[in-house]
Amino acid sequence: MRKVSIFGATGSIGQNTIDLIARDPTAYDVIALTGGANIAQLAADARRLGADLAVTAHEDRLHDLKDALQGSGVEVAAGESAIAEAAARPADWVMSAIVGAAGLAPGIEALKQGTTLALANKETLVCAGALVLDTARTHDASILPVDSEHSAVFQALAGEDMDAVERVIITASGGAFRDWPLQELAKATVEQASNHPNWNMGQRITIDSASMFNKALEVIETREFFGIDPDQIEVLVHPESIVHAMVGFRDGAVMAHMGAPDMRHAIGYALHWPERQALPVQRLDLAKLGQLRFSDPDLARYPALKLARDVMARGGLSGAVFNAAKERALDHFIARRIEFLNMAEVVDAVLERFDATGGLIDAPMTLDNVWKTDHLARQWVDDAVIKRAG
Ligand code: NDP
Ligand code: MG
Repeated sequence: MRKVSIFGATGSIGQNTIDLIARDPTAYDVIALTGGANIAQLAADARRLGADLAVTAHEDRLHDLKDALQGSGVEVAAGESAIAEAAARPADWVMSAIVGAAGLAPGIEALKQGTTLALANKETLVCAGALVLDTARTHDASILPVDSEHSAVFQALAGEDMDAVERVIITASGGAFRDWPLQELAKATVEQASNHPNWNMGQRITIDSASMFNKALEVIETREFFGIDPDQIEVLVHPESIVHAMVGFRDGAVMAHMGAPDMRHAIGYALHWPERQALPVQRLDLAKLGQLRFSDPDLARYPALKLARDVMARGGLSGAVFNAAKERALDHFIARRIEFLNMAEVVDAVLERFDATGGLIDAPMTLDNVWKTDHLARQWVDDAVIKRAG
């Protein structure tokens, strides 16, 4: 039996992972499941899958979790350090599907055990790419991409020589506002931004898809994961979300990865890699689809894409700044303190303030420095939002 743990088990990726694992219960020994506020889901899954341990991120919810798992024999714990301890429990395969920078520390902890880390949490590589990859190398651990675009690139690269790669193209649906008139974007509401045309995902990544902050993170993730130059990475708007990514080779060939927009494909690929196993995803009917459209993204509509280029050019800890500022700006948008387009403006202002201040952004990439940078970036977003309101 393979020992598996799922971090962010109650979320969209976590639930899709559990869907696959629960179909073959005799194949998996579930070590740890972690969640946040959704105690009922966490407890129900921990019972159903016979997990050794269930952890909620919220210390004040420990009693609720204990109550919900009374008599089940499942060990319970709560808080950030309990999540890190859960990640230190040996497992063969670990799903990293916490949302945001909170996924970084447990991911690193799991890599230190030499595990195979299925990485949905793109923030891990954006915030601390070099540190994470170095940890994996030192501990002989593997990282498999779960983000659909990166899984697609990984699959298109199978058996290929990296030296033959000319470019990588990742696609974007264009999100909720792809066809909106530009002047109306400023007034876009949280509800409107939370409605993705093709994918069913958590609220934060759905809003990040509308702003293309998600794609911006993915461009940086592509650079880190595959070690290619920023100018070899392209983004194409592809409204159908059928081609997830393409790899162009030096002989002019382009390998495209296609599939229905269902995260269980990328999760299942990472779960069964290096084999391919049958997966319960819809089969493509290209004749029925009729057409696949592609266009260049409009940078006036999606300023986050330009910011990703700035971050890659800047290097150092600017990925951690970018992600933290983006997360905090998103908090303010969800709380209706700023408007949709203000998110990119605020993130840009914080990146510039770091640049002007110097120092921290060029500090060595340690977990400690990543957190310092992250906290300061969030604080500076708050400053910028307060200044705006005043
Ligand atoms: P969700 O918001 O659906 O789920 C997030 C999970 O993380 C939940 O289990 C949540 O618990 C938990 N969580 C939230 N905050 C914390 C915290 N501070 N500490 C510990 N756990 C926490 O997110 P998604 O599943 O959509 O996304 C997860 C990750 O995967 C993100 O990094 C996202 O970018 C990436 N991803 C997602 C895709 C998708 O299709 N959804 C596609 C590609 C990548 P609870 O809900 O119980 O509060
Ligand atoms: Mg993606």
